[in-house]
Amino acid sequence: MSFSMHGIAVAQGIAIGHAHLFLQTSLEVTHYSIPPERLETEIQRFDNAITTVRDELHELERHVPAGTPPEFAAFLQLHLMILNDDTLSGIPRSLIQQQGCNAEWALKQQMDSLIEQFEQIEDSYLRERKEDVTQVVERVLKALTGQPATVAPEHKADMDSILVAHDLSPADMMLFKQRTFHAFITDMGGATSHTAILARSLGIPSVVALHHAWAMIREGEPIIVDGMAGVVIVNPDPLVLAEYRLRQEQWHLERQKLKRLRTTRATTLDGTDIELWANIELPGDVDAVKKSGATGIGLYRSEFLFMNRTDLPGEEEQFNAYRRVAEALRGHVVTIRTLDIGSDKPIEQAPKAQTLNPALGLRAIRYCLSEPRLFKTQLRAILRASHFGNVHLLLPMLSNGTELSQTLTLLEQAKVELRAEGIPFKEGIPVGGMIEVPAAALALPVFIGKLDFLSIGTNDLIQYTLAIDRADDSVAHLYNPTHPAVLYLVAHTIRTAQKSGIPVAVCGEMAGNAGLTRLLLGFGLRNFSMHPAHLPEIKQIILKTSLPDLQPLTRKILNTYDSERLDELIARLNQQPC
Ligand code: PEP
Ligand code: MG
Repeated sequence: MSFSMHGIAVAQGIAIGHAHLFLQTSLEVTHYSIPPERLETEIQRFDNAITTVRDELHELERHVPAGTPPEFAAFLQLHLMILNDDTLSGIPRSLIQQQGCNAEWALKQQMDSLIEQFEQIEDSYLRERKEDVTQVVERVLKALTGQPATVAPEHKADMDSILVAHDLSPADMMLFKQRTFHAFITDMGGATSHTAILARSLGIPSVVALHHAWAMIREGEPIIVDGMAGVVIVNPDPLVLAEYRLRQEQWHLERQKLKRLRTTRATTLDGTDIELWANIELPGDVDAVKKSGATGIGLYRSEFLFMNRTDLPGEEEQFNAYRRVAEALRGHVVTIRTLDIGSDKPIEQAPKAQTLNPALGLRAIRYCLSEPRLFKTQLRAILRASHFGNVHLLLPMLSNGTELSQTLTLLEQAKVELRAEGIPFKEGIPVGGMIEVPAAALALPVFIGKLDFLSIGTNDLIQYTLAIDRADDSVAHLYNPTHPAVLYLVAHTIRTAQKSGIPVAVCGEMAGNAGLTRLLLGFGLRNFSMHPAHLPEIKQIILKTSLPDLQPLTRKILNTYDSERLDELIARLNQQPC
């Protein structure tokens, strides 16, 4: 039966493929009886799943991408050891036999018992290995759900897989950077959740906030994902399929055309140069930056170096990662943002805060200042990398002057140490601040004068201005970049920075939103930092825009409070032949 579902489009393009269900152990594992005559087949199904996972892990080992922390290989080894141990690959077979139950249930029982044993271990390192057991079991469960008869015979896992998940964490997404999924869809999430941002960095279509996709779609079912309209069509009929194949082709053709703009300067019709920079998560993303034609990196989210591992990256490891990017950019700006963890980007080394509102809690600069040793290690690594390129340092989530002065003191201490140790760094490394808390946007003089540049983080600025959790699908429809309050804060920050002679960029998702390019230009923005995939489209708009022509409508927009009228004016701004 064909049906369609509507969610939020987060990464563009059209994918046509087969569903591959991603299973999390937090989700229910079903329990049913297996008649004695089918027990052997059930055990065989379990063995097949173990073999699939073993192959998967070996495959991952062979294709560790550049820039992956070295611990990743050790982590794969550990997972293979756990998988091959009799407690995981042997005992569930006996449980299936003895209890006459399904393989998933046998495995779940064995996992629960193993976790109980791990929890009694005194050594904290070994105790934490229970997480690894869970992750391995998750993989086997996922492989088991890949076995039912519903799988289309021609469907080969990963060949044309569309990942269907209830929810995905940013850490899960990092692991998917190594897989070849054609698209992904989730029940949860918002357009600017970090998971969605990472989906964009994978360059594959995706739709989030579908609510019941995971429950309704079955493994192997054919599906279409329209990453522009936020639509998912399950079991499409041949006519719909043909229509989407055509659209997919057109989309690819347009992308190809846009690629020709790579070396064209982003200059408006009236001759103003606009800086188009890229956002990255890992050093390996530098290739995409180069292909996009970006002239710098406006946001390097350093926290991704801290994910999917149980230890912290030390100074040397961080230095090598930052240096690699600095060198690769050959003199172009590389803006390294200090660790921005917490809320929807937890890391294993920081205890998960038992707090009702993690987005309002100990995250980003607040967390770093509460861990000065960890913070200073990162500052030293960034300073050292500054010797090898044009490195700028960016501080996330500033909300008051004390955070800034404490950070600058720590930075000075790091410099004193490096000088004493004779380690080179750039003395005048530019230090900037993210404007992503409304208080910072409204009290800019607190920061201007002490900082060398500003970068507006519209994702958090919208979240905090509108009190909308950016990762919560139940309020995702209220997350609105064109709310008058948001537009006011963005325009005000750009204007104030310019009056004070301090450079300002936008590095939140608004910078890569083609529907808002002219509006931001009208606000005076001359520096956009976005995911590389969006850059050619934004450049194309800039090339067709004359700045003086934007002024009358932009002024009107800033004085409009009716949302329909606002949408109408923005549409007119985008259509007007400049
Ligand atoms: C932002 O908040 O807009 C931003 C760029 O930072 P992040 O998305 O990493 O929170
Ligand atoms: Mg932010």
